[in-house]
Amino acid sequence: MEQVHLTGLTEAELREFVKSMGEPDYRARQIFGALHRRRLRSLDGMTDLPKELRAALAERAAVSTLTVESRYISEDGTRRYLLKTHDGLPVETVFIPEERRDTVCFSSQSGCPLQCSFCLTAKLGLLRTLTAGEIVEQIVVALNDAYGQGARTPRGTNLVAMGAGEPFLAYDSLMKALRIMAAETGLHIVPNRVTVSTAGIVPRIRELATVPDRPHLAISLAAPTDELRDELMPINRKWPLRELLAACKEFEKSLRPGERFTFEYVLLDNVNDSDEHARQLANLLNRHQLRTKVNLIPHNPGDPLPYRPSPPERVESFRRTLESKGVHAFVRRPRGRDIYAACGQLSARRAAANNPSPALVHQLTR
Ligand code: SF4
Repeated sequence: MEQVHLTGLTEAELREFVKSMGEPDYRARQIFGALHRRRLRSLDGMTDLPKELRAALAERAAVSTLTVESRYISEDGTRRYLLKTHDGLPVETVFIPEERRDTVCFSSQSGCPLQCSFCLTAKLGLLRTLTAGEIVEQIVVALNDAYGQGARTPRGTNLVAMGAGEPFLAYDSLMKALRIMAAETGLHIVPNRVTVSTAGIVPRIRELATVPDRPHLAISLAAPTDELRDELMPINRKWPLRELLAACKEFEKSLRPGERFTFEYVLLDNVNDSDEHARQLANLLNRHQLRTKVNLIPHNPGDPLPYRPSPPERVESFRRTLESKGVHAFVRRPRGRDIYAACGQLSARRAAANNPSPALVHQLTR
């Protein structure tokens, strides 16, 4: 019999599950609280459940399915985890301490089917889409490691789906994981604290706009023209900029007061970082009258493959050009560079070490 992954069940589903075992509703409440509020990763700690029930659960269900394969701590406090699924696939998660609120960056897939040319994860291809339980577990692992098991998070937690994979290709898992994590009786991380970053899956952008309690949206652009974006992000051939920005315009109608959505733009030296590119980008956004901001992401240095990071003065000039045309732009401070904290770097670097190929030594900068 296949084991049920308890961490991936909503409280209502847990109630059904314990009912199928002949147990009353309040057992579901106890288990849900143990998994998400106390962040237990095994049945052993659930001492408020009778021993017989724990034994019966152990036969039919698993609490945790991810194992921590390695953990790295950066000089700047960023923590990075390489986890492994029950079927041996890599999952990467990053914990980023910040002044006002800490952030966990999680993965939605192991590997990724999209072939962004600047991304190391792309070289793995799609290994598998993660389940809701596997998404929730990443956050539990990171919070327990940073604060201690079950300890309150001192500054609250933001989540970003910017790790490996395209979150909108894991839409059902993602939305279910967000529902589980929002529960007041559990982690209580509401969608308003979550940002989902997409490479541009247009139908899902439109769909997300209709979700009442939805997370924030970020879109990885990387290029201001179809010609360049086709090359850097081949998903653009399916949904070109015109369609992508039309969907963004539609999404804009769903924005709450004070909310803005963001475009992420990775800067690659001499590829997409000239003042002309900045002008084209500003014109593109202004043409669609998008009330948005652009996060400029410096490419990680030390990468021997096709792209180099733009020099700081180029980054600044790009930012200023955007601002001069009325587009708000921010340069994102790179975190955890010494531990390869751009998602996709760990597993793909490992793959490269096992199967050395110059094509593998690239990185994700979403
Ligand atoms: S940048 Fe994101 S969407 Fe593109 S290949 Fe990498 S993980 Fe996938």
